[in-house]
Amino acid sequence: MIARICGIAALLAGCAVVPPADAARQAEVAPPVAVATPVPTPAPPPDAPIRADFTYAGELTQGGWIRGTVPSGTVSARLGDQEIAFDLQGRFFAAFDRDAGTTAQLVAILANGDTVNAIIPVSPRAWELEYVNTALRPGGGSSADFQRRRQPELDAIWNARTANMPATGWQEDWIWPVTGRISGRFGSQRIYRGEPGSYHSGLDIARPTGTAIVAPASGVVTLATAAPFSIEGNLLIIDHGQGLNSAFLHLSRIDVAEGDRVVQGQTLGAIGTTGRSTGPHLHWSIKWHLARLDPLLFVGPMP
Ligand SMILES: [Zn+2]
Repeated sequence: MIARICGIAALLAGCAVVPPADAARQAEVAPPVAVATPVPTPAPPPDAPIRADFTYAGELTQGGWIRGTVPSGTVSARLGDQEIAFDLQGRFFAAFDRDAGTTAQLVAILANGDTVNAIIPVSPRAWELEYVNTALRPGGGSSADFQRRRQPELDAIWNARTANMPATGWQEDWIWPVTGRISGRFGSQRIYRGEPGSYHSGLDIARPTGTAIVAPASGVVTLATAAPFSIEGNLLIIDHGQGLNSAFLHLSRIDVAEGDRVVQGQTLGAIGTTGRSTGPHLHWSIKWHLARLDPLLFVGPMP
């Protein structure tokens, strides 16, 4: 270091404070930091407690979720058929689809080849059903023309939902993106002369156009539409990590861009009525991989 700083000065002012041999020896003892950067090894701290079983807590019900830890020595884990990601401390997030059965099975494969199981009771919900005396008509999307326009939108949504970005929102206590009258509940469904229509995949909150919405948890923006999609309108998707993500539909404006990291409480955009919508509201939907989840079970009752 000294030799290098003095290199030019030495020629001008005789700054030969470090003889060449010493400089070489010093370089051996203390090589430049860039060369010596150690590669971090993904191992838990040596004093980490041994966990023989899964631990978990959360909302053990349809549309709900759990957070927990995998057993020590786990090399892979799954809930049912769904692979579960876990961090260096063994922490994971998992969730139960709207139509999940009454039990779910956690499975861990350990480094020594052993398997650890946990059976989780998943309580059923009484979904809001509305019986209507009209025939189920095919959604407005049956024409070939519409399908051509629709397919790239569906592809963009799929890519955003499965982006798998590194983010830690899955660990946070979530907040409401906006408060207001709940005008549509997750999971509600119309039955058309005995024929069930598709259920409502999100939670609707009615507020005037222009009302700001904030990030319920931190994450990475994986979709911010440049122009309204035919059904979702202006659509924003945030990846919260570990397969968990949120979508915000019908927005009047979007204030963030794809690739942006957002923190909990940060303004994302504003409520609108773009796309297939009958009035200004936020449709907020949450997914964990393929499972559709109830936003109410993340934030509790509307304050
Ligand atoms: Zn909705």
